[in-house]
Parts: sequence; C-alpha cells; structure tokens
Amino acid sequence: MKKTGLLASLIATLCISTAPSAQSQELYWATSGMFGPFNIQGLIPTFPTAKDITIPVSMWVLKHPKGNVVFDTGNNVAISDSAENCKAYWAAGSCDFLKPSQKRSDVIDMQLKKLGMSTDDIKVVVTSHTHLDHAGNIGMFPKAIHVLQKKELYQGWWPEKFQGRAVNGSFVLGDIAAARDYTYYEIDGELDLFGDGTVKIFPTPGHTLGHQSMKIKLPKTGSVVITQDAVWMQENLDGYVAGLNYSQQAYIDSVTKIKMMRDLEGAKILMSHDAGQFQAMGDRWHK
Ligand SMILES: [Zn+2]
Repeated sequence: MKKTGLLASLIATLCISTAPSAQSQELYWATSGMFGPFNIQGLIPTFPTAKDITIPVSMWVLKHPKGNVVFDTGNNVAISDSAENCKAYWAAGSCDFLKPSQKRSDVIDMQLKKLGMSTDDIKVVVTSHTHLDHAGNIGMFPKAIHVLQKKELYQGWWPEKFQGRAVNGSFVLGDIAAARDYTYYEIDGELDLFGDGTVKIFPTPGHTLGHQSMKIKLPKTGSVVITQDAVWMQENLDGYVAGLNYSQQAYIDSVTKIKMMRDLEGAKILMSHDAGQFQAMGDRWHK
C-alpha cells in the first residue's frame, strides 16, 4: 500500500509538472494608435445610417511558455506623428480617409518595451493578412518565425486589382518587402502553433484571400477568438456585411465559423476594430 501510495504521488507530481501550459499564458491587447473619426458606411456600406466612428488598430502580445507571440504588427512606424509622415509612406488617400493618430510610442516595438520585452524576445509573429494596418512592422522582427497563409503572401505581393493593386494602396509593398528574407512558416489551413492545443491558427478568408484568425486558451478567461479583420466590429457580427472583401461568400462563411466557435465552444470573440470592446478590454493583460 505504502509503495502504491508513493507511486501515486510520484505520478501526481509528474502530471502537475507536465500539465497543459495554458496555465501561464497571458494576452495583451494593444493598439497602433486609432483610425478616425470617419463614417462607418465608408467601411460597412450595408450599414443603414451614417455615424462617425473612431476605431483601434489591434495588435496582440501573447506570453506563452514555449515562446512569446505577436499577432499583427499595426501600421508602419513611418506614418507616426503627423499627416505629412503618413503621406510620405502611405497613399495620401489612405491617410485622408483613415486619419491614423499613431504616435511613435504606439508602435509595436515601443509597446513591447512598455511590457518589458524587445522585438528580439518574440519567437513567432503571426500576421492575419497583408493589409497596411496589420503587416506594417513585420520588418522589425528579423529573428522571429513569421506565420502566414501561403495564399496571403501571394495576395500581398500581387493583390487582385479590385482590392487595390496600387503600390501604396491597402497593401503597402514596403511593409512586406522589408521582411522578404526572413524565416516564414507558410501554411495552408489550420495550425496548432505549439502542438499543445493552446494556440490555434485557422483560415478565415473573405476579407482577403488568405486571411487567418487565432484561437487561444487562457487559464482564467477561457477560449478567445482573435478575429482580426474577419470581423471588424460588432456591426459585422450583427449581420452588416463589410466592404472591401475579396469574396463575400468566403467572408460570410468565416463570420459564421467564428460565431459557431462562440455558440458551440463558448469562445469569446475579440474584434480588430471595435471601439467599444477595445475601450473595455484594451491596453491591458488578460489571463
Ligand atoms: Zn484592419
């Protein structure tokens, strides 16, 4: 009996030490400045009434026992601090419409510094898609493994003309050119990032050809789905279809998939450009 008891306690100890690593995960929600104010109908043409919105440009930092992760790197550092800086790097039309308020201190490297990290402390950079407000600073992470859907890399380098092929349109060539020689994990479909079920990347095409989102298991909060531009804001969840889509059908399927994760798994949906949600949950850690 005594031996059995000892064995049992040994096994228990082993089980504790190899327990799922979700226990120590923490997620920080940052914004690369704000966009706006502008009329919501500029982004969501199906929305029935005009109203001005000012929205965050969400970036995420995940502390994970197997390595730190950044999900999206915001607007390029070059557009910080003034409309003149913006127009020197982005198309003037993008600056005039989006009205980015990004200060130098909002940029991902400074956000990491604020959190006690440097860009070199980031093991994995996941990029949802190659638009200017999501892939802006992948060039700041030469040591990281960059995870993108292979299709999205193709799309970023040669967007469909109707999605904007101008060199500095919604896709800014300089953003991805800066990181062309880095290490990429070019995936086609889902990825269990650390092989332990805690961080799952899954395709959510529609907004762009190879858009992807992320589902994370947090110890206290539970499962969260970080949609990025698969779902911009609450109005999209309410059924108002976004503009700018590569494919309306794929977009609607992706929104439905995310809603099902909410309704069947109990996952919380965290959206890229939702002002109210960021106000309630942004600029802080979630455990
Ligand atoms: Zn966006």
